[in-house]
Amino acid sequence: MAIVADRDTRPGHWPESFVRGVYAALDAAASRELRRLALEEGLSPSCHRGCGHCCGQHILTSIAEAQALAAFVRREFSPHGMQDLQERTRLWHTWDRCREGSGVQSPDCPLLVAGACSAYPMRPVICRSHFVTSAPHLCGPQTLPGGQRRNPVAMASVWQATRPFARLLQERVEEAGMDFQRSTMLLPHWLAQEMEWDCTPAP
Ligand code: SF4
Repeated sequence: MAIVADRDTRPGHWPESFVRGVYAALDAAASRELRRLALEEGLSPSCHRGCGHCCGQHILTSIAEAQALAAFVRREFSPHGMQDLQERTRLWHTWDRCREGSGVQSPDCPLLVAGACSAYPMRPVICRSHFVTSAPHLCGPQTLPGGQRRNPVAMASVWQATRPFARLLQERVEEAGMDFQRSTMLLPHWLAQEMEWDCTPAP
């Protein structure tokens, strides 16, 4: 599997170029599988540009992806864009602190702006692997007030096709001596940590 070499040899550090290489290979595998499904099974995803229904779900992200995402945000976002992102991240944390038993639906991912991902080139594996054939609104937060459940129809073979690349990230994290499961957190938690933002609620 040809992936851009990781030149950062510091333990616990993964350069953006390495993560980008993994993402490029993963995207190519997903595209191949989507083409096969269209040709052989007549299936196509209902996902489309401007649809951000799945961005209200809990997005688990590994430390390697979080570091690459933070590097992208620091480089690409304007000061104003960064300030807005920090505020959306703070609001997400305010919800997170009081969600227990509140019945309040989780806010969207802080990176979602006007229905589109503001960090699209560096969105995590979980966002790149999720395709559905069902109505887009079924991808919203799974638990609704009243305990109702949504049941989107995921394209499982696309997800499967991306697994070797997700495992590649996992292997690199483990090679650095870390427990991969413990190195994953929700994306807004990573944003606060990697960007060194104080997300305690305003008094
Ligand atoms: S990172 Fe982007 S694609 Fe993923 S949940 Fe957030 S806004 Fe959506």
